[in-house]
Amino acid sequence: MPSEAPNAMRIDDPVQFLKGVGPKRAESLAAQGIRTVGDLLAYPPFRYEDRTEFRPLGSLREGEWVLTRGRICDLGGFEARGRKLSVFEILVQDGSGNLALKFFNQPYLRNLYRHGQELVIYGQVKRDAYAGAGLCLMNPECEVMEEGSGPSVHSGRVVPIYRKLGPLRTRTLRQIIYGAVCGLSEEMEDPLPSHLRRKYRLFPRAKALARIHFPELRETAPDARARELDLLQRKLSPAHKRMIFEELFLVQVGVGMVRAGRSQALKGRRLRLGDNVRAAVKKVLPFHPTGAQKRVLKAIVDDMCSPRPMARLLQGDVGSGKTIVAAQAAVVAIENGYQAAIMAPTEILAEQHYFNFQRLLAPLGYRIDMLKGSLPAREKRAAADRIRSGETRIAIGTHALIQEGVEFRNLALVVIDEQHRFGVVQRNLLKSKGREADLLVMTATPIPRSLALTFYGDLEVSVIDELPPGRLPVETFWFEERDRPTAYEDMRRAVAGGHQAYVVYPLVEETEKSDLKAATQMAGHLQEQVFPELRVGLLHGQMKSVDKDRIMKAFAAGEIQILAATTVIEVGVDVANATLMVIEHAERFGLAQLHQLRGRVGRSSVPSRCILIGDAGGSPEARRRLEIMCETNDGFRISEVDLELRGPGEIAGTRQSGIPAFQYADLLRDRRALEIAHIEAGRFLSALKTGADEECRRIAARIRSQWRDRYDTALTG
Ligand code: ADP
Ligand code: MG
Repeated sequence: MPSEAPNAMRIDDPVQFLKGVGPKRAESLAAQGIRTVGDLLAYPPFRYEDRTEFRPLGSLREGEWVLTRGRICDLGGFEARGRKLSVFEILVQDGSGNLALKFFNQPYLRNLYRHGQELVIYGQVKRDAYAGAGLCLMNPECEVMEEGSGPSVHSGRVVPIYRKLGPLRTRTLRQIIYGAVCGLSEEMEDPLPSHLRRKYRLFPRAKALARIHFPELRETAPDARARELDLLQRKLSPAHKRMIFEELFLVQVGVGMVRAGRSQALKGRRLRLGDNVRAAVKKVLPFHPTGAQKRVLKAIVDDMCSPRPMARLLQGDVGSGKTIVAAQAAVVAIENGYQAAIMAPTEILAEQHYFNFQRLLAPLGYRIDMLKGSLPAREKRAAADRIRSGETRIAIGTHALIQEGVEFRNLALVVIDEQHRFGVVQRNLLKSKGREADLLVMTATPIPRSLALTFYGDLEVSVIDELPPGRLPVETFWFEERDRPTAYEDMRRAVAGGHQAYVVYPLVEETEKSDLKAATQMAGHLQEQVFPELRVGLLHGQMKSVDKDRIMKAFAAGEIQILAATTVIEVGVDVANATLMVIEHAERFGLAQLHQLRGRVGRSSVPSRCILIGDAGGSPEARRRLEIMCETNDGFRISEVDLELRGPGEIAGTRQSGIPAFQYADLLRDRRALEIAHIEAGRFLSALKTGADEECRRIAARIRSQWRDRYDTALTG
């Protein structure tokens, strides 16, 4: 590690404090979100290059990337004025041979180099077309060695390679960051408690950062050295591991604080599960609940009846029957005299919930209102008035429902049909707006444990791990365009057997006109050319609600046999008699969406099929998606593959949720570290309560203030 520490620098110092960073570079860095020394150090290299061994000039071969050195024995060059070309040439030699270095259009270099200087050079060996058979390096990285100096920044070591940051290239960044690393004080504040560092043998923070930027290999035997270098390249060196653990620990502590804050609050109302409430809950049950549904509902109702606010994740595969559980929870709130809100990520999904809840809760005659942006102002106001007066018992809408200051008379339950779009932070905001309402988050796709611990770590988890009785896995096939007639044959056969079919078209954007046209045309084509004897219906998001309603009802009643639809039907359409799902351009859909769509069939004890018509077009990812769909119906397995293919940030909607994307940790790879971080964060938080030492209290305070600054969310605990 660089050892000169001129005047110890602080992590919060502005980057301009660093050597080589003037106002202009500081501005470029700021444009990339880098303002402080700490920000800069948090920009790790994406790979490393081993530049420890200098190759003798006489041993170079064409095509190799080499690190070498030599003394300047000649300088020259020319300018071709007419062609705006300048070439500057240096000849270097060592005992074994010599080598030409050519620099194009960098005339200022003339002033940097002189006869007799020793250069360290890095570049790719080329054959020089203009100099007979000679070898040369074009625009190599060069550095003048001072007499008697030690290893330099750019050579004689394993050097970091950075991605370009605005206008700043790897060499410039290396130089600047070197300065930052040199100035780091060993005493730098460390967010990992020292007892944990000792227990897991983790580097102090300053040392880890220094080694991530400027690694020092410890091994000397060639094999061991290669292994060490390999760990470094894979970002699993001891320094990296220390940072991985830090990231996971901090998230676990932060999430734990959110959770603790919630469990300290009192909601100031007491719900009861009296006989009348039980009777009402039973009334909305069209079937016997599964054991899992009963168990989950009990956990939810226990939470609702407790003095502390509920924060529960209801997890269960497509078709496992979450809707009815949410509806029953709403009944409990309403029968106790309170209101409930159901929120969906999009208006279309909200409409479908509206449709479903009206149907399910019809026997109880509650007033249910849908509040959405596209309503005429007058109707919106009227609905908002009813919500405020308490006349509305259930309000359904997008999250604008809560965020835009709609006032409830006495909201007790918020159900979020999440679809992976809210994160810890947003939920926490929601809580403050919803005045300690009980919160039930439903996820349509099961969540791998690594995400459950991080993005959903603030929630208690309930799982519906059982499908309603008699369900069969949906047999799934991947067809290519030429198999289309077979798909139509299958549809005909399903209808002949008294069942119904869906055909789904991708709609990238709900407003995408061309896609919509394709769907509409296809429906016309199916009706006129392919199935003139059947009734084909069309459903898409741009239709008026009344029309959508009409089509959905006609399909539910069996009057329409084939429903051509955009992804409107992804969630919520529920017609058990439909046994065939055909998905067009299946390669365009994400895995979660495909799984959701397929979940529209297989809702009875009749065998169902799903046909994916798609062309992977040489994309291995698309191929993998289609293949895994054919292999399994297990949503858990599917979401794990999804996680592998897309990365956790995408899945959990990190961008919106505000949870930082991990810089070092990889939730899939580092599962074990996450489990440990989770346990240690739990211990850390409980130690805080019983009187932790000064260091832990300081660390906790720092985490709290970081979350407050970053996410505008206050943490307690
Ligand atoms: P999801 O969990 O995907 O939201 P739904 O709530 O839409 O699932 O339920 C899927 C289907 O299963 C619906 O048709 C629903 O009426 C039915 N269903 C739910 N629970 C049961 C049950 N216990 N017995 C029979 N059918 C059920
Ligand atoms: Mg559902």
